[in-house]
Amino acid sequence: MAIARQRQRNSESFKKGRTSQPVSVEWDAKTKLGRMVKGKKITNMHDALKSGLPLREPEIVDSLLPEIDDEVIDVNMVQRMTDSGRRVKFVITVAVGNKDGYVGLGQAKGKEVGSSIRKAIDNAKLNIIEIRRGCGSWECGCRQPHTVPYAIKGKSGSIVIIFKPAPHGIGLATGDVAKKILTLAGIKDCWAFTKGKTKTTVNYAKAVFNALKQNSEMRIMKNEIAKVGIVSGSIGIVKEEIKEEEIKVKEKE
Ligand SMILES: [Zn+2]
Repeated sequence: MAIARQRQRNSESFKKGRTSQPVSVEWDAKTKLGRMVKGKKITNMHDALKSGLPLREPEIVDSLLPEIDDEVIDVNMVQRMTDSGRRVKFVITVAVGNKDGYVGLGQAKGKEVGSSIRKAIDNAKLNIIEIRRGCGSWECGCRQPHTVPYAIKGKSGSIVIIFKPAPHGIGLATGDVAKKILTLAGIKDCWAFTKGKTKTTVNYAKAVFNALKQNSEMRIMKNEIAKVGIVSGSIGIVKEEIKEEEIKVKEKE
């Protein structure tokens, strides 16, 4: 039933020029995972991440998550005096996400803003993770994946951030940087509690990302999945543990 609905949605969005299906991205695949994605042996992000193969080509993300969006989180100008004069470098921090269960954070350095942003976007894609959503809010209990499934904690530098499930309609009761990253991840409602120097944007962003990473790695019980309505990754893509074995088989072919 869910698959049928997803297929229908895909064909509809395809007509509008947008698609959730993997698109053909032309590139010279150099890694095993890259070749598997290009050869359509792996057709969704979940399988790509669960394959255990290193993700070293941003084009993999481009073809599996064509709707991916990016947002510049921080531009930091670093000046240095040398014998030949003043040297300027930029450190760029970027977040990427498909607004439906996948999010990444990346950084890059360079002399020009434009090319550094592009490099940071690529790095964010290589750091992409699958997050869990659900309705962990006892006040809500709708079992829809609109918030975090349970309280999660992330740290970076002096910053500690805790996200807690919030009921429908609360929105993102967080700082601006967290709002950008959670939006890209596809979380709609959330409470945030922070400690430390939240003005240091980059550490704050890293703490947010680390919290989401913890959320994806935490062990959960099967009964919790049903109770809280936990979804890992994109809504509508059917995922079962058996699939992991399937991928291993495909790999051998
Ligand atoms: Zn709810």
